[in-house]
Amino acid sequence: TQSSYLSQLPPMQLNTMSHLPAEPEFEQAYNELASTLENSKLFSEKPEFRTALAIAAIPERIIQFRVTWSDDKGNVQVNRGFRVQYNSALGPYKGGLRFHPSVNLSILKFLGFEQTFKNALTGLNMGGGKGGADFDPKGKSDAEIRRFCQAFMKELSRHIGGETDVPAGDIGVGGREIGYLFGAYRTIRNRWEGVLTGKGLTWGGSLIRPEATGFGLVYYVAHMLEHAGRGTFEGKRVAISGSGNVAQYAALKVIELGGTVVSLSDSKGALVAGDSASFTPEHIATIADIKINRKALTDFKHDGQFTYLEGARPWVHVGKVDIALPSATQNEVSKEEAEALVAAGAFIVAEGSNMGCTQDAIDVFEAQRKEKGAESIWYAPGKASNCGGVAVSGLEMAQNSQRLAWTSEEVDNKLKGIMKDAFNAGLTTAQKYVEAKEGELPSLVAGSNIAGFIKVAEAM
Ligand code: GLU
Repeated sequence: TQSSYLSQLPPMQLNTMSHLPAEPEFEQAYNELASTLENSKLFSEKPEFRTALAIAAIPERIIQFRVTWSDDKGNVQVNRGFRVQYNSALGPYKGGLRFHPSVNLSILKFLGFEQTFKNALTGLNMGGGKGGADFDPKGKSDAEIRRFCQAFMKELSRHIGGETDVPAGDIGVGGREIGYLFGAYRTIRNRWEGVLTGKGLTWGGSLIRPEATGFGLVYYVAHMLEHAGRGTFEGKRVAISGSGNVAQYAALKVIELGGTVVSLSDSKGALVAGDSASFTPEHIATIADIKINRKALTDFKHDGQFTYLEGARPWVHVGKVDIALPSATQNEVSKEEAEALVAAGAFIVAEGSNMGCTQDAIDVFEAQRKEKGAESIWYAPGKASNCGGVAVSGLEMAQNSQRLAWTSEEVDNKLKGIMKDAFNAGLTTAQKYVEAKEGELPSLVAGSNIAGFIKVAEAM
């Protein structure tokens, strides 16, 4: 249980940086990482790393601010803005901005904490950070979003910089928002620098950045399939949740590699393909259009090949699947849904989202892995399987520093190499630090946590 992990660990000050009564998402992310370190050989070999964990658990700095802006009617609106500068041992703070009404310090601390170890797994020199606002872009006009972004940057611009802290997108922040934010930074600070990633191609963005998280996820899973002796994506049935940037490009890459995509979803419900149907690239293009206009999947018109399930997530509705890719938001696979995926014959679950699975769901997958040997379901945590997005952000920073732009092929090849290295790091680190029975698939959750943590701890 969470409390028993906590009692074994060095004295923690989990709440020292905020006045929230509890930080459930952050404590979940911390306990998930800490328990895998604790249950490995790491602390017996390197006792000083316990102290490193206690230090790494606390953000170096948190900036909280007020954002006032005017809506289209001329009324003044106010929101809360945040930037959590978690860890700069490996490089400038790096991580996205999330604009969503649920945003609070617990969620941004969990995301910043995970980002620190994810960024370490990319092998690039990036520290970890996360930020955002409790602003809801849904139903807002372009002009309102622009005014909000400008007001947000008025304060944030004092705390970031190309060598200090380089934000990017996350939920609710895409290319358009990055454009408004970058324009505001340039005006306020009177300097052009690679201070944000996910920029447009004509003003310093990198080719493949929009595709990178989804493509990288699929490249990572291809290594899992190969290692587990399950072949390639050809002919596999793949359930995906979400319908944003990550889900769309994961779906397109799965289709390109010969797999069948049988579900997508948004916060209001799930779209599940009927028996002989599946999503085509044209369907994905239509959905991308719906999302850009901030509309819901209920607007997706089709001739009855799909079922729309209001208020549902796809997992218990997809029938027999081989691979599940949660790519919407945190805690989107419960214990019961994990059990349903096991019963449906799934043999790979890899997160495109951050902390897509609850701890109970991870426990279901990890128990199967220990029981069933090479035939079991195999789980990959987002901090490894979705690191392709921030990795290409790192490549965008490198291009900005060089004042050069690389070709798609060059960026895609580098992304493939980074995903392969992230997979191998998780695998070999698990083999080194985690006891396992003959024939058991290594724990990618423990291996990735330990590999990312060692890098950060040594740098600290
Ligand atoms: N928001 C993405 C993530 O969770 C990307 C962050 C970035 O590119 O800085 O990794």
